[in-house]
Amino acid sequence: MNCPACSYPLVVLEIHDVEVDHCTSCGGVWLDGGELEVLLENATNSHELMASLAEDVEGKEERIRCPICSKKLDKVLYGVERRVLLDICPRNDGLWFDRGELRYVMEMGHFPTDNRVYELISDIFGKSPP
Ligand SMILES: [Zn+2]
Ligand SMILES: [Zn+2]
Repeated sequence: MNCPACSYPLVVLEIHDVEVDHCTSCGGVWLDGGELEVLLENATNSHELMASLAEDVEGKEERIRCPICSKKLDKVLYGVERRVLLDICPRNDGLWFDRGELRYVMEMGHFPTDNRVYELISDIFGKSPP
């Protein structure tokens, strides 16, 4: 599978039974449908976060294509207090996170500070955007 943003081959990482496809070139991350829910399982406000997904009505960013079905990804806003723009497949194949966005999303989940999934995400995907 190739990166939807820069076409570089994606590397598969396994984090606690969740397969994450990572682009080592642009730093983006692809999660198959449903895997975000699994990663957020231990988050204090995961239901609130999943329910927060909303269509991006402005649509200023260029749309990229799904690495699985090649359809254009929809732009969605995610997050209750702070918002981030994610790319989601209209067939629910998965979600694309630009560099730092996955960590940002994990931060919004308010994990316990000793949560190992959150630590791994922080280590692998680095700092959140400014
Ligand atoms: Zn890339
Ligand atoms: Zn798709």
